[in-house]
Amino acid sequence: MARRTDSPATEPTDWVTRAADDAVRHAGGDPRDAGVAAAFAEAGTVVTCASGISPSGPIHLGNLREFLTVHLVVEELRRRGVPTRHLHSWDDFDRFRKVPAGVDPSWATHVGRPLSAVPDPWECHASWAEHFKAPLRAALAEMGCTMEEVDQTERYTAGAYTDQVLHAIERRDAIEAVLARHRTKKPVADDVPADVPAEEAAVLEDSVAQDDEPTQGGDLARFPYKPFCRTCGRDTVTLTSYDDATTDLAYTCDSCGDSHVTNVRTQPEGKLVWKVDWPMRWSVEGVDFEPGGVDHASPGSSYTVGKEIVKLYGGRAPSFVGYSFVGVAGMAKMSSSKGGVPTAADALRVLEAPVLRWLYARRQPKQAFTVDFGPEVVRLYDEWDALGRKAADPAKRDAQVLAFERASATSSAGTLPTPPVVVPFRTLSSIADVTAGSADQISRLVGDLGHEHSSVADLEPRLSRAITWTHEFVPAEDRTTVRTTPDRELLAGLGDLERQWLHLFLEHLPSAWTDGSPDLDRVTTVVYGVPKLARGLGLDDQPTDEVKADQKAFFRLLYRLLVGAERGPRLPTLVLALGPETVSSLVQGA
Ligand SMILES: [Zn+2]
Repeated sequence: MARRTDSPATEPTDWVTRAADDAVRHAGGDPRDAGVAAAFAEAGTVVTCASGISPSGPIHLGNLREFLTVHLVVEELRRRGVPTRHLHSWDDFDRFRKVPAGVDPSWATHVGRPLSAVPDPWECHASWAEHFKAPLRAALAEMGCTMEEVDQTERYTAGAYTDQVLHAIERRDAIEAVLARHRTKKPVADDVPADVPAEEAAVLEDSVAQDDEPTQGGDLARFPYKPFCRTCGRDTVTLTSYDDATTDLAYTCDSCGDSHVTNVRTQPEGKLVWKVDWPMRWSVEGVDFEPGGVDHASPGSSYTVGKEIVKLYGGRAPSFVGYSFVGVAGMAKMSSSKGGVPTAADALRVLEAPVLRWLYARRQPKQAFTVDFGPEVVRLYDEWDALGRKAADPAKRDAQVLAFERASATSSAGTLPTPPVVVPFRTLSSIADVTAGSADQISRLVGDLGHEHSSVADLEPRLSRAITWTHEFVPAEDRTTVRTTPDRELLAGLGDLERQWLHLFLEHLPSAWTDGSPDLDRVTTVVYGVPKLARGLGLDDQPTDEVKADQKAFFRLLYRLLVGAERGPRLPTLVLALGPETVSSLVQGA
């Protein structure tokens, strides 16, 4: 007996909520029925949410959206107690399409072989496919994502789809009729929006989503199944005959010249073409929800066509969410040495796992966004910290807080690691910048700045990310370089007022240190107070307009003397980080 309950009015919703609702509906339930989880459990219904990717190259931050879109929906379903699984397909039975730049050109000999059969040119994994699966698996584990993995090479070669392959061959005229109706002359690249990053546009042009071109003429031009050559393992075959009665498929290989006969029923040596393969698997796996990039969702592309082809299998297309692009900015020249677009593992060197998850959770899939490794990182952390403070107040729970919660914890990993003592990323990176020091040294200075903590561990996992970001992602011209010798020329040319400032500064600065321990408030008072003293005011007096102008000039002078630049980290932080001896040595001599 279904009992209808409305969600409490205060319960926020977002795209994940709606996608999870759609998945429940697809599986035959009513998402607003409070008993749906129990009913599914009793009936043995498991909501299947599927992701899939061809491990043909580095799995970049755009690809990560495929995994995280499914993961977030699965987590929402688990939160509701709905039996569910994240089924991930590695499409490693896809053909190796081309040799990317930077790889030994002799790998061209493997073009046409399954990705699982191409050797790893870096010699660290069992195959090309495994080389790219492994780092993504590690990154997902760090982000608290678990999924059920399926290797399509294993499935196909085990004969798991033989009945479906035979069915597709029997119904090949009906399949061709569907494909013909949707066939467009327009290449997919024309559908790529103008703001798509070049790397991703290149991926799109290479997308399997539009794989529908006949590779041969004649009656078998649109045959929905293709074997890999038994001699050389490539799919560069020309089909010469098919016998419906015996299911014998004869071919000649254009690469090695050999001819073979494969029996489709008994010899699983090939795969369905992509536009049939995808809907076939929806029906076999009972997929209720699956997202796809825009290359899979445009008119005439695989999802649109798959919706019709799946009916030939008596199935139904899953509920679908099309996701947009993920751009990358602020990488400067850092990535070019690696010759590629950044992966999840690269992003996790700078972003705490929940922050990276949050970038994907907070945006609707159809919204494109950019992961910016430049100065935006600092603002991103500030925004995240502010949201964390808001989330601590139950009265402020809204859709933004919901995204924070989705980013912060998972059903398998619990709450993901964040620093026990939250110090602004900008503070940590400023100190890392100024000191170029060890984690221990930074930790001590952070304590001096008033962020009490008992050990370096209290600042992790953020501290090491701040150090990495400062040293590897901030361009040299934006880094702070502390002078090693005084700027004699500048010191010699100072006017009277400037000399007076520096004398007062040197006189009062030591008062900010007691037994070697600095007092940040005192440092701040001295830095702001020197121009007041020079105009006859006290250190704690309110500044006049004249003094305010003096302060600006004084700060600029200090930056020039200490770091040889017009600006830098906050002056009290800088002075405290350098310590009284270094500061004095660079300022003396006026
Ligand atoms: Zn061959």
